[in-house]
Amino acid sequence: LVSLRGVNKHFGELHVLRDVDLDITRGEVVVVVGPSGSGKSTLCRTINRLEPIDNGRITLDGTELPSEGKDLAALRSDVGMVFQQFNLFAHMSILDNVTLGPIRVRGRKKTAAEAEARRLLDRVGVGDQAHKMPVQLSGGQQQRAAIARALAMEPKVLLFDEPTSALDPEMVSEVLEVMKELAATGMTMVVVTHEMGFAKSAAHRVIFMDRGQIVEQAPPADFFAAPRSDRTRDFLSKVL
Ligand code: ATP
Ligand code: MG
Repeated sequence: LVSLRGVNKHFGELHVLRDVDLDITRGEVVVVVGPSGSGKSTLCRTINRLEPIDNGRITLDGTELPSEGKDLAALRSDVGMVFQQFNLFAHMSILDNVTLGPIRVRGRKKTAAEAEARRLLDRVGVGDQAHKMPVQLSGGQQQRAAIARALAMEPKVLLFDEPTSALDPEMVSEVLEVMKELAATGMTMVVVTHEMGFAKSAAHRVIFMDRGQIVEQAPPADFFAAPRSDRTRDFLSKVL
């Protein structure tokens, strides 16, 4: 579904992604782990072209992602993104946050978009918060609303960049629970996280990134029990 070939990215002198090759199949849940600064966020951002790349190819469903223009907007809306800081629009109700994309980008009618938004907000457990402003919700509720907003665009793949890192500990599990349910429905997901429990229970594949490279990837059972690279072992010894 998503394919990266020979992707390189520099920030000035800094080589942030080095010859990254990655294939994500439909329905796959890929968890990306690695030390701070290893390029995990940059990898996510390149997948929906929030970040231009120096060279390489990125395709979504067989179509190469253009670097700009109208086609980019259309393709980008097929890639949902959930951020650490929720990034809900502060001046809009939760309901309006969820319906904005479907109405503006997908051309849905308001009534249909609202009905669908309410269904999604119910599904993530914040249906009763639809009329509120983001600031009136807890962090966990805001993040679940942000997931509903991403789902409302019916993305082909959903990227999560440390979705629980900004949450108080008691709210982490409610968000992870929603993500696990999504994974179980067959959603294609790329999840950057430090939650190794989520990786173990929900991932089909765990990818370890270090210094802009994919150093190792394996199903979670193998990845955690028998890491092959010294760098992976060293990382796991610090986080487990
Ligand atoms: P973390 O776990 O801390 O979120 P990360 O693995 O997500 O780290 P990235 O955010 O992808 O790492 O950053 C990779 C490297 O690129 C870091 O050295 C970072 O400082 C640098 N970097 C990221 N964004 C930019 C930018 N817009 N301009 C310049 N350098 C950047
Ligand atoms: Mg990051």
